[in-house]
Amino acid sequence: SSVPTPIRATLFPGDGIGPEIAESVKQVFKAADVPIEWEEHYVGDQIDPRTQSFLTWESLESVRQNRVGLKGPMATPIGKGHRSLNLTLRKELNLYANVRPCYSLPGYKTRYDDVNLITIRENTEGEYSGLEHQVVRGVVESLKIITRQASLRVAEYAFYYAKTHGRERVSAIHKANIMQKTDGLFLKCCREVADKYPEIKYEEVVIDNCCMMLVKNPALFDVLVMPNLYGDIISDLCAGLIGGLGLTPSLNIGEGGIALAEAVHGSAPDIAGKNLANPTALLLSAVTMLHHLDLHDKADQIHNAILDTIAEGKYRTADLGGHSSTTDFTKAICDHL
Ligand code: NAD
Repeated sequence: SSVPTPIRATLFPGDGIGPEIAESVKQVFKAADVPIEWEEHYVGDQIDPRTQSFLTWESLESVRQNRVGLKGPMATPIGKGHRSLNLTLRKELNLYANVRPCYSLPGYKTRYDDVNLITIRENTEGEYSGLEHQVVRGVVESLKIITRQASLRVAEYAFYYAKTHGRERVSAIHKANIMQKTDGLFLKCCREVADKYPEIKYEEVVIDNCCMMLVKNPALFDVLVMPNLYGDIISDLCAGLIGGLGLTPSLNIGEGGIALAEAVHGSAPDIAGKNLANPTALLLSAVTMLHHLDLHDKADQIHNAILDTIAEGKYRTADLGGHSSTTDFTKAICDHL
């Protein structure tokens, strides 16, 4: 058999615990023989005028060229005159959809053991357009922008995701009974796309009812697609169902098929540099990246090794009630491969 040419991917180890958990990903990928060649980029210590942020133009170019990357947590430096790092990435790479797979980790007990759903959040407009102003004293206004273009784009991605990942159903989450124009347009776009995917079931669920159903029986859902604000809230709710942000991966999809995977948690300055961090969320994010690249075998292999290690219970980091270091936990995963 021929040796596959390695795929270049950008890696932002990030700040705080970032470099430690990124090291863990590099080791696990090496042990699993994943054909990925990392191109490492760090956040700069000066504002790059071309990006108006501490992210350099070169690092953004790296993601644009490779079209795929993995990002550790970044601590946004405080001060004026620059854009936040996450905002810069989202705007410059046009990351329009945030995808969060949420599944129960066998052996790690939470209220439910059968969660297996995907939230897909529109990431560029809606309530987060940043258009707020005071009309008169005591009255303020915030504009919720919903466009046909952005709604179709995220709906297309949701159905494409469902189809390529063997999912059966897409639920559009909304409040169109009250927000008739905005959420109404969002639903209209979802329906249009649904018509093109007759093999995928489509349903519409009002957000308040969705919350109740999720906490009562999360197994009722498969793929959920929704506007920005609802997605922000529901995706964290779903993370809570499986044990918290420390275990939750995510994948950002951008224009032209760019995919930037990232853990949902922050840089955990309280435990940084102490070899205590749990690399699971970043590892699972890296797994979603592999699925995106159609390297499903490698993705499943690593995914199973992580699940086996956690289920076995011998090596767990402190946040999961164990006593293992980042490096021992990582080694255990490599041994399970
Ligand atoms: P945090 O997620 O960094 O930490 C919250 C708590 O969770 C801490 O007690 C921390 O020790 C723990 N924790 C987080 N990840 C962990 C892991 N992998 N293993 C074990 N424990 C873990 O949130 P915060 O303290 O609010 O934010 C710290 C910094 O991170 C801030 O500068 C913030 O701006 C940044 N942040 C970045 C992102 C991102 O890059 N996507 C997201 C959130 C916060």
